[in-house]
Amino acid sequence: MPFPVTPVTPLPPRIARLRDLAHDLWWSWNPVARRTFRSLDYLLWRATAHNPVLMLDRIEPSALNRAQSDSAWLADYDEAVRQLDLARGARETWFARTYPAAGSTVIAYFSAEFAVHQSLPIYAGGLGVLAGDHCKEASDLGLPLVGIGFCYPQGYFRQRISSEGWQEEHYERLDWSHAPVARARQADGSPCIITIPLGTRTVLAQVWQVKLGGISLYLLDTDVEDNAPWDRELSARLYGGDRETRLQQEVILGIGGVRLLTQLGIEPAVCHLNEGHAAFVVLQRLNDLCDRGLTYEAALAEVRRTTIFTTHTPVPAGHDAFTFAQVETHLAGVWGTLAPHREHLLRLGLYDNGSGPMFNMTALALRTAGAVNGVSQLHGQVTREMWHPIWPDLPVERLPVRAITNGVHVPTWMSSEMDGLLSRHLGADWRERHDDPALLDRVLAIPNGELWEVREQLRGFLFHFIRERTRQRWAGEQVSAARVVAGGPMLDRRVLTIGFARRFTGYKRPELIFSDPDRLARILCAPGRAVQIVFAGKAHPADEAGKRHLQHIYFRALDPRFGGRIAFVDDYDLHVAHFLVQGCDVWLNTPRKPLEASGTSGMKAALNGTPHLSIGDGWWAEGFTGTNGWLIDPPKAADDAAQDWADAQALYALLEQEIVPAFYDRDEQGVPLRWTQVVKESIRTVLPRFSARRMVKEYVQEMYAPALRL
Ligand SMILES: *Cc1c(COP(=O)(O)O)cnc(C)c1O
Repeated sequence: MPFPVTPVTPLPPRIARLRDLAHDLWWSWNPVARRTFRSLDYLLWRATAHNPVLMLDRIEPSALNRAQSDSAWLADYDEAVRQLDLARGARETWFARTYPAAGSTVIAYFSAEFAVHQSLPIYAGGLGVLAGDHCKEASDLGLPLVGIGFCYPQGYFRQRISSEGWQEEHYERLDWSHAPVARARQADGSPCIITIPLGTRTVLAQVWQVKLGGISLYLLDTDVEDNAPWDRELSARLYGGDRETRLQQEVILGIGGVRLLTQLGIEPAVCHLNEGHAAFVVLQRLNDLCDRGLTYEAALAEVRRTTIFTTHTPVPAGHDAFTFAQVETHLAGVWGTLAPHREHLLRLGLYDNGSGPMFNMTALALRTAGAVNGVSQLHGQVTREMWHPIWPDLPVERLPVRAITNGVHVPTWMSSEMDGLLSRHLGADWRERHDDPALLDRVLAIPNGELWEVREQLRGFLFHFIRERTRQRWAGEQVSAARVVAGGPMLDRRVLTIGFARRFTGYKRPELIFSDPDRLARILCAPGRAVQIVFAGKAHPADEAGKRHLQHIYFRALDPRFGGRIAFVDDYDLHVAHFLVQGCDVWLNTPRKPLEASGTSGMKAALNGTPHLSIGDGWWAEGFTGTNGWLIDPPKAADDAAQDWADAQALYALLEQEIVPAFYDRDEQGVPLRWTQVVKESIRTVLPRFSARRMVKEYVQEMYAPALRL
């Protein structure tokens, strides 16, 4: 394993803290720190996809010298460092004020993926974004939380699209010295290496630390020299291996995750399992408690009292299940003092979803966690119905599964331009109070022209980004001319732009909007009132059907009948997501109800003034107010095909009758007043209620505080 090389570019003493700032991802959601790096070397900032660690490795000494003799830049730098120190040492936080008796308790948050920044590609999609946003908000609110996950050296794949529109997966090895991570160290300063029993052998894992202001993430990595070659590969890729690999990864996350905390001297009072992947945490904790002399029953009760479980999907395939033989093989070394209770523990995971009895990770978590939640009000209901067999004696409405609706980390997802507008009109401290609905009511008083100007600016950034990306593919990778065209260089920056960016999979129905191609073509190509659509998203490497959906979109983008008004932007990640949610005019979401548990991209869009146009599924079922976006809600049809058609008809009607006219009807100054009204309602209603701040406060009040006996 190559150790991170000690960075070579020496920093002038006056700006010696710059590297510390770059290595704490707190910079990425602080406007002053962000500006500090952006204006340090704007071209390099763009060329590195906003990665200050890489920037400091590449930067010319002359640029550093220029910066340190620029008083405006220095003022930003000093302010950023001051705020970072405040964020790290904060005592006057919401958590400290609300729970003065909390003392030194720790909440451990386990997740197989964390999306904290594009320079750390250890996430696939929504689950990771949620975990990342949860941790960032925990930092802002002063929660004593640590995150535990995996550091996949090859990450999730990078997507390229062939000239035939077929998704190709590329795995690049992460260069640790260019990522915002450092080796985690034990109290005595030595690097933290842990041992994990896996089957009949022992696997080692090293630990990386990611700083997020007031909190840290710890990431497990089995690419250690003393491991066998196949064990070194175990944590190489996210969701990349077969079932056996997946199960072994989950042993490492659950068992290894708890062991790493012990080794770092951290004793969590509460463990939060983000999705079933981490459910083996309970086995290691039971083991530890029994080792300390508790009876098995007492240990089980203690684990139940202090375990919180969040389930994320109503799609059956989204819940990991293994054969008992597989579990027996890979957990052979785990039982320890639990050996007499092995059979009971295996039964805690027993579940038959129709294809025979299996060991189901969600079932294990549901049966061992004292508090369980789904991720939207509707999903809470669906989860209770779905998992009723776990509690056969209880009526469905009495099942111990509640709902805490997801939210997004506002400082991460809000564009600098919209942030500036809100600072001017809501007060410079609006970010501190952003979950207060009364504060956001003041959005209604923002002059329409100013708001529209920001919206036009954001759309402009998106088009610049799309054109630059197609230019890079053309110049750097010699892709075909057709592939360039499909990438969107012909899009028009004045035209109403719909965004659709999400994982390509059947239930999200990416092709729904093409149900009636002729009608869609008329909408897209209307003279003077054109509409364009930008698609992005990856299909899971093993999902052939998803890849075919993607290919169909690619061919639509090339079909002249749509007037060059459809584009597919490749390699959807956090970086692309920022441009899309901020720069599109409408965010489209057409899942098959009720399979979208929550969805969060629509929240990111809405708080930037990109209203949501969606089926009433997930968060939109509770988020739509009648005036803050549009609801696709035709009468319920007899079967899936009829429902697809009905949903598409309702979608076209909304576009033709409401959305397009509202966007193109302008006043004398060229401002679309009906449109800006929807934009204001979108920001006003979505920002406070669907913020990670509201969400994390709910987790604290409803789940963490009771478990901590606060
Ligand atoms: C927000 C986000 C997602 C999740 O979006 P959904 O609406 O839940 O599908 C997935 N990927 C990226 C890169 C994101 O930023």
